[in-house]
This record gives sequence, C-alpha cells and structure tokens, in this order.
Amino acid sequence: MGHDEVKNELEPVTRRLIPTEVPLLDSREVVLFPDMIAPLIIRDPSRVQAVDAALTAGHKVVVIFGVKQTDGPASDMALDESGPAELDGVSEEPTTEPDAALTSDALYPVGTAAHVMRTMRAPDGTLQLLVSGIGRVGLQDLVQTEPYTLARVHSLNSPNDDSIELKALRQNVVSLFRKAVDLSPSIPDEVLPALQNISDSGQLADFVASQFNLSFSDRQLLLSEVDLLKRFDLLHRLLHDELEILELRQKIQSQAAGSMGKAQREYMLRQQMEAIRKELGEGSDEDELEDLRQQVQEAAMPEEAMKEAERELSRMEKMNAASPDYMVSRTYLDWMVELPWSKTTDDDLDVNEAERILDEDHYGLEKPKDRVLEYLSVLEMKRDMRGPILLLVGPPGTGKTSLGRSIARSMSREFVRMSLGGVRDEAEIRGHRRTYVGAMPGRIIQSLRRVGTRNPVFMLDEIDKLGSDFRGDPSSALLEVLDPAQNNSFVDHYLDVPFDLSNVLFIATANSYHSIPSALLDRMEVLELSGYTEAEKLEIARRYLVPRQLEAHGLSPKKLEIDDDALKTLIGNYTREAGLRNLEREIGSLARKAARQFAQGRRRKIRIQQKHLFEYLGSPRYHHEVAEESDEVGVATGLAWTPVGGDVLFVEAQQMPGRGNLNLTGQVGDVMKESAYAAMTYIRSRYDELGLEERFDHRRDVHVHVPAGAVPKDGPSAGITMATVLASAFTGCAIHKDVAMTGEITLRGKVLPIG
Ligand code: ADP
Repeated sequence: MGHDEVKNELEPVTRRLIPTEVPLLDSREVVLFPDMIAPLIIRDPSRVQAVDAALTAGHKVVVIFGVKQTDGPASDMALDESGPAELDGVSEEPTTEPDAALTSDALYPVGTAAHVMRTMRAPDGTLQLLVSGIGRVGLQDLVQTEPYTLARVHSLNSPNDDSIELKALRQNVVSLFRKAVDLSPSIPDEVLPALQNISDSGQLADFVASQFNLSFSDRQLLLSEVDLLKRFDLLHRLLHDELEILELRQKIQSQAAGSMGKAQREYMLRQQMEAIRKELGEGSDEDELEDLRQQVQEAAMPEEAMKEAERELSRMEKMNAASPDYMVSRTYLDWMVELPWSKTTDDDLDVNEAERILDEDHYGLEKPKDRVLEYLSVLEMKRDMRGPILLLVGPPGTGKTSLGRSIARSMSREFVRMSLGGVRDEAEIRGHRRTYVGAMPGRIIQSLRRVGTRNPVFMLDEIDKLGSDFRGDPSSALLEVLDPAQNNSFVDHYLDVPFDLSNVLFIATANSYHSIPSALLDRMEVLELSGYTEAEKLEIARRYLVPRQLEAHGLSPKKLEIDDDALKTLIGNYTREAGLRNLEREIGSLARKAARQFAQGRRRKIRIQQKHLFEYLGSPRYHHEVAEESDEVGVATGLAWTPVGGDVLFVEAQQMPGRGNLNLTGQVGDVMKESAYAAMTYIRSRYDELGLEERFDHRRDVHVHVPAGAVPKDGPSAGITMATVLASAFTGCAIHKDVAMTGEITLRGKVLPIG
C-alpha cells in the first residue's frame, strides 16, 4: 500500500492546519498513517457528503477513524489496491447501509487527519479519492451524525525523544525491516532508499508500519501509540513475528526449489554427457542398456534367470548411470549374460577312441586307465552323467591333471580346473550375496564362465586341502555341487538364481584321501595313482617329457639330445619325488640353457651326458642312503614312507653302562617313541630266548637314534626295526645289511601289516 510518492507530497501537507471540527470517515479496513498516501473508494452517500463538505470548506481535510470491530467486517470504505494513479476502474464490495447511529464509543480514540488530494466521481455516485495523512488526531466527540458525521478533534503530537534506547530500537527496526524487504515478495525494494531519507523517528515508524501486511487491529494499536518508544517497541515485536513467518516461508520455498533444482541439474548434466559421448562417437547409456537387453535375450537363460535379469534391467533404466548402484547392476548383468546357460559341446564318447587318447598321452598307468575306461563306458551306456565322481589320488606329478585333460579330450569336452587348496570360506565356492561391496560369484560359476560351456570336464584339484573355519564349511557347499540330485539347481549367492550343473563331469584330485571329509569321500570313486619307479620315470621322460620340453623351447631332437645316463642321474640325484614335476622342470632348464647357446650363435648339436649335468645344473641335490658295507651290530635297515615315495633309513642302537634307561633321539614323534618302548619290553620279556641274563639291562643304558636327526619322523611302523636293533645291541649279533624291514610290533612280538 505504500509507495514512493511520500516524499513529494510531504512538505505542503504537514504544514496544513487541522480544523477543530472536521468531517469524519469511519473505516473498518483502512488505517491511514500520517504522511502516507492512500487511494480510497467510497459508495455510501453520507460519507460522500462528508468528503464534499470538506471540499467545500476549502481546507479539504477529513479525519479517518477506525471502527472497533465487534463482529464480521462489513466494509464500506475500501482501499483502492490499484494505486493512487488510477482512480477509475476499481470495483469493490457493495455498499452497506451506514450504522444507524455512529457513536464515539464505537470508534478507536485515535485517528488520522487526511488531506483530500484528488477525487473522481463515477456515474453511479461512487467516489474515488486520494488522501494523504497529515497527523494523528484524538477524538473528542461527534458534533453531528446527520447528514454526515462531523467530529471534534485535537491533534496529537509525539513528544521528541532522542534517548539511546530509542536509537537502538530504531536501528533494530530498520535492520529487521531490511531483512523483511529482502524476504517479502510483496514489498518493493524501492522502499529502502525512501527509508533512508526519513530522519524523523515517528515518521519512520509510521512508514515502516504502513508497508506491512499487518492486521487492522495491529495497525490501530500502532496508530494509537503516541509515545515514540512504545510505538517502536510494538513495531519491533510485530516486525519480528512477521520476519519469522517470512523466513519460514522462504525456507519451505527454497526446499521445494532445491529439490527441483537438483533434478534439473542432473538432467542437464546427463544431457551434456550424452552430447559429449555422441561427439566422441561412444555409445550412450541408452545404447548400453539396449546392448545389454539384446545380450540378455541372446543368453538363452532359463526362465527364472531371465526374469531376474529383466528385473535388473528395468532397475537400471531408472538409475543414474554414474551411480555406484548402476555399476553393481551392470556387473551382475555382465555375469548373467556371459554364463553358458545353455551352451554345450557335443559329446563324442567313443571308448575305443578314449583308450587310444589315454595311451597316447600316458605311459603305463595301466590300472588307472582301465578304471577310467570302465567309468567312461558306464557313462556312455547311461548317458546321464549321474555316475559317481571320479577321485584321482596320488602324489604330485603322477599325472592326475593330465589324465583329466585326456578324459576331456577323449569326450570332446572342454576342460577346466579349479584348485580347492586353502579354500576355507563357503563363499569362495558359492559366492557372496550381491549386497556386499565387491561381491563376486563363487569359483564354480567363475570357472564355468571361463570355460564357456555348461558341460565341461571340471577338475576339483586338491580336494583334500579343503579347509573349514568360522566362515562356513566349504565342503558342505561342495557336497551340493557334487550331488547329482541337487546340482541341477545350484544356487550361487551372487547370481541368486539356480544354475544347472548336472551336465558337468566332475573329477576330483587329492594327494591322499585321509583328510577328505567322509561325506564327500562317500560320493566318489577312488582311483589311486601311486608313484613311478625309476625305470618308469626314465621311460616317461624319454617318450613324453623330453619331446615336450624340446618343443616348448623351440628345439628339435636334432639340436638337443639327452642321454639316458643323464636322465637317470636327473631322476636319482637331482629330483626326489613320486611324480614327475621336478624331473620335467629339470629337463626344462636343460632345454632352456641349450636354447640360450643356440641363440648365442652355436651351430653344432648339443648332447647332454651324465658328466655335463654338473655344468648345467650344479651339484646333485640328493644322495641315496648307501647300504652298509658289511653286516653290523646295532644298525638295522628300516623302510619309511615319505610323501615323495619311500626311502630306507638306518636305525642305530648303542648300549653302555647305566641304570636301565632308554634314550631316543632323531626327532621321533610320540607314536614312534611308544613303539620303541614296546620293542624294549618285548626284548626284555624274551631275554631267555635271546641268550641274555635275566636282568641284562639292569646296569645298562641304551640309546636309539634314528638319523637323519633333523627330519621329524613318526608312526608305529619302525617297531620291528627298533626291536631288531635293540636285540642286536644287547646280544652283539650283527644284522643282515641287505634286509630292510617295516611294521608295527606288539608286546607279544607280532608284526602287524603295514597301512
Ligand atoms: P598331478 O596333476 O598329478 O600333480 P600332472 O598331471 O600335472 O600331475 O603331471 C605332471 C607332468 O607329468 C605332466 O606334464 C604330465 O603330462 C606328466 N606325466 C605324468 N604321468 C605321466 C604318464 N604316465 N605319462 C606321460 N606323462 C606323464
């Protein structure tokens, strides 16, 4: 309602005198502050007459007093909201009859004297006028109410106040007002410069009050307050409340705008990204999704997997391509589309052909080959791959893996290997749920993706090295994998949909079957591959390992030849193993060194003899235990099982004066110790038959040593050797050097069969 014409009209108006008897306009809506200008519309004839009286009186002054509100507003004088410049074209609520008798009690005691600046009469008698406040007036009484109201008034002047308190309040009001102008959309910014030009405090308060959307009664309160300090105080409070409302409104609005803004920003960035991609010739998100959808269609998934993939796709459509969730979904779908849901290779199972291939790839191994061929024959007859799982048991390097490969080759299937050594976590087999960060499918599914068909020969290596701990038991997951009744719907935690493993031909390998969980072992058909003899190793080396290594190093038999003697020494003194791994490695390093010589310009063929080995490979790594020269007292030859096959070992015993103690040295374990005591007891019980005195050990100690002293040894099977060496030590009888023995001895002297 305020505007900036205030200043222009100020000077002449304020000096205008206020007559003591003035025509009165009563008001229920408008509160005119001094020095303010307001447009009014008047319809009621008696009020029109009041204005006319003022005009004819020449002073052009009316007083405006507010009507105390008792009930619903019935306005007869309204603000012309369209502003002072336009007095026409304003429509207002219909005129109501004026109150029958206006009394001074019904009016607020303080009103405003106003100068009528301009009038405009409409044909229907409505009067539009522009008034300008002159000053506060107090109502004394009403001189007449007919035909128009004439009031006797006195002007009210605020006493000057230049207290610090007022100054402070004034400053507060100004700063609150500035804030309010900032926040309020309805107060024009132009009022701020106008504010600066007002020096008079009373005028300033009135100006601020007039700019606000205050209630009628609040305005009346402000108008009635003649005391400046009180007026500012009240204004301050009202402003404060108003500001709070404005701030709240602003907050709500900016929140709404904020959420809108973020979405819009993202949209814009997305558009820009799209444009950049196009510019770079890269596919867009949409292309990417389209590609994925295509791939999902082509992956030939079973229904359930398809549904899950489509669900993930539609989730991705709603996602921001830069969000981490999008990448998670994307990775998942990549896995899904790359799995061989229905990709198979055609089986070509001909047992005769299989036999040929097995023979071609392997020397010897007659028994395992026969078993494999029997196994394949059953598969051929049954054709459903539901036979027991083959378990190949044997020391490292005995051809388990290569047998597996040959089986795959003879069936025209793909071959894939997965090592279970050290797998302790069920999730390694079954995968992690997708909710984990960086989750992946388990190794079964990973291997299948790698091999790309769903019917490969699948080798589970080192099944005896499967661990288990608090993270869950991997063997139970493996049981499910291997169980033909369950594995057609194997659920990997990551994929979360079943995958059919029933066409996979599983083959397991182990170094020994003692540590395989029995539930697993029950499902498997054990096929043992024991180690090779030196003669077999030589044959395999000649026929398979040397040619293979020559080829691997780009050599031919015309360039490199390895003598049998050299091979034998390699087998005996450079390697010690049941299998062929190290032998193959040593042959490999011979070939490598030969290749280097050729690379450095050598022309002539290289022939490696036994005497050259030192030059190529350094000194021999192993020495065989050598049988004693002659039969001796107190030394017995034992046979020991070691992970790399077997070995002979010599057990020594020496008696000496003492107190009947038995000492044992050579890193012997508890079981071996016990068997030594058992052997000793047996000897003592048979002193008679051995030709010894009754208490032959009474003043004697005996020391038994099992070399080599640093290698831990255990097990009961040295029992017979111990007994023999003890008997020899006490009787002084020599032991045949060329008899080696092994077996557990009982107290009655029985030798038990070895494991
Ligand atoms: P494992 O899997 O039992 O540890 P591998 O199958 O890896 O052993 O065999 C080691 C190496 O010895 C391979 O190169 C393999 O081809 C070879 N090999 C093992 N046994 C034979 C055999 N009977 N005839 C030919 N090569 C063999």
